[in-house]
Amino acid sequence: MATPAIEIDLYSDTKTRPSRAMRQAIFEAEVGDEQAFEDPTVTMLTRRTADLLGQEDAVFLPSGTMANEIAVLAHCVPGDELIAHETSHLLNFEGGAPAALAGVMVKPLTGPVGTFEPDALRKAIRAKNKLFPTSKMVVIEQTTNIGGGALWDFEQMKAVVTAARENSLKLHLDGARLMNAVVSTGLSPRDYGSLFDTVFVDFTKGLGAPLGAILAGSTELIRRAWYFKQRLGGAMRQAGMMAAGCLYALDHNVNRLADDHRNAQRLAEGLGAISGITVEKPWTNMVFADVGGLGLTGAEVAGQLAQRGIRVSVVGPTRIRAVTHLDVDSEGIEKVIAAAGGLKASK
Ligand SMILES: *Cc1c(COP(=O)(O)O)cnc(C)c1O
Repeated sequence: MATPAIEIDLYSDTKTRPSRAMRQAIFEAEVGDEQAFEDPTVTMLTRRTADLLGQEDAVFLPSGTMANEIAVLAHCVPGDELIAHETSHLLNFEGGAPAALAGVMVKPLTGPVGTFEPDALRKAIRAKNKLFPTSKMVVIEQTTNIGGGALWDFEQMKAVVTAARENSLKLHLDGARLMNAVVSTGLSPRDYGSLFDTVFVDFTKGLGAPLGAILAGSTELIRRAWYFKQRLGGAMRQAGMMAAGCLYALDHNVNRLADDHRNAQRLAEGLGAISGITVEKPWTNMVFADVGGLGLTGAEVAGQLAQRGIRVSVVGPTRIRAVTHLDVDSEGIEKVIAAAGGLKASK
């Protein structure tokens, strides 16, 4: 049987496509030479996001990965050590860039759902001694990616920040999905952003833009960041086309993330009501389900759903993940629940 086209793509919130209205904003963007600071739309975006995140300045980048890596380069020198959760994007999905590009060692921490305790950080920080690498920087993800879209408790986050400050560590917030946290907790982007030396926010996840990330920090830090942006080939020309999509996302796609969270709750509830499927309560927009009780593997479930035009990801032998986003509405979610109700063990 030929696999039908994917109609409902819950593989990731990176699968969003720019809406017609966003494309219109992109079409109409005023542009100039970005690397000469002559692009008015990029300037509008960097000013607005710096302010939104409680920072002095910001730089527009083609990807979140580049934002994270420029933060590492700007804060550290070769031989320094970076501390982050063992599941963090920075340590797992950036091609070894802290080592390859910055010459930085990494110390992974453990803890539930992508978070860690201030004491775990304190224990990881090395004494100042010429034998040891210098503990230089700590990275927090909010929401956590492999942690399952989980939210850091704000008090715990502040306690980690305090422990880092007491030890003169630089603090970087990987806020690829910071706006999901903002919508979910009611805290402002500034409440989070102003705690850190640098903050990255991605526009290509639930915010639905085709391209773009922002790295915000002090004027001095962003000046340094520009050297690395140039060096890595991230300096652009008429990038206002893409910044326009990001500005559109800030205006129209932030508050609606609450719909994605509601859809995730509904999906979890619907899947959880099917005998043989065990669902974890979603934190934000990611739903994890164990399908072992159906007598099927995760891959078999994904295969059967694909036959119904639905894509999910397989994250363990019997574990699947579904991520809600602006291209899947509540009707789509009901279709997924109905399709899951028809899953059949082959034996
Ligand atoms: C997606 C993601 C990134 C990287 O962003 P890209 O724009 O895909 O390069 C970094 N950190 C986290 C937590 C992410 O989810």
